[in-house]
Amino acid sequence: MNTKTILIVDDTVANLDILAELLAEYDLIDTTSGVDALEIVNEEKVDLILLDIMMPEIGGFKVCERLKSNPYTKNIPVIFLTAKTDEESIEKAYEIGGSDYITKPFKPKELLARVKMQLDLQSLIQNLEYMSSYDSMTNIYNRRKFFELAEYRFINARDDLFAVMIDIDTFKNINDTYGHDTGDEVIKTITKIIQEMLPPKSIFGRLGGEEFAIVCNHKNQTELLSFIESIRKKINEISLDFNNKTIHFTISIGVAKYQEEFMMIDDLLKEADKLLYQAKETGRNKTIFRK
Ligand SMILES: [Mg+2]
Repeated sequence: MNTKTILIVDDTVANLDILAELLAEYDLIDTTSGVDALEIVNEEKVDLILLDIMMPEIGGFKVCERLKSNPYTKNIPVIFLTAKTDEESIEKAYEIGGSDYITKPFKPKELLARVKMQLDLQSLIQNLEYMSSYDSMTNIYNRRKFFELAEYRFINARDDLFAVMIDIDTFKNINDTYGHDTGDEVIKTITKIIQEMLPPKSIFGRLGGEEFAIVCNHKNQTELLSFIESIRKKINEISLDFNNKTIHFTISIGVAKYQEEFMMIDDLLKEADKLLYQAKETGRNKTIFRK
């Protein structure tokens, strides 16, 4: 049974108690602070948020705005809880991305029905989001989602940001010689190896065909480069047994580090792509890095 998790945010403890009782069939997390709520959604999988508007420190509208501007939390539905019934507040609640609006004091049946409706909708959205974000062959991020998350990382933490472009060498030959099934197996094998060796908090995606990219922050450039080199070496060492044939394959890699003149993530990725191209031009199965 897939239990949904609801985060309840209200600075009045008595309200949290009432809601906990009404919503006992769900997994609940509660907090009296909007600041805590923003931390919780980064650490836990939350399916729905019930959010009080009037709170000290940071109010519900502000919390909602922050949730909606973050690609990791923007799809979590928010139901506002409030004693306010003026038209302006209601309009604002929807304007900033709220999904629904429940007034205090709570009417139990109405509250449960609205919660259930948002959770049902959320299940549909999660399925659609999954299908539109992941590459169906490898189950890693597809191009669209990779760029969305990479752009967000660039905006928020660019100082020690690296982009890594990876391409399977002479992939067309693999397909032509062994068939597309084998080519697909090679792509899956390489994906798995990279995934197992990725630096923490990396964004890893398949940009298309035989091309992959990683975006990650790292304080220690030497360490990161040796990480990346170890991926290349590992792939160089292994072989794939498929349809009674043993197949070897290699990858080329371009690594670029954020520079002040880069205005957006595309600039960083383009630089890494240029270096990848050099790696290809100068013999393949190598990593080229330039600061
Ligand atoms: Mg309040």
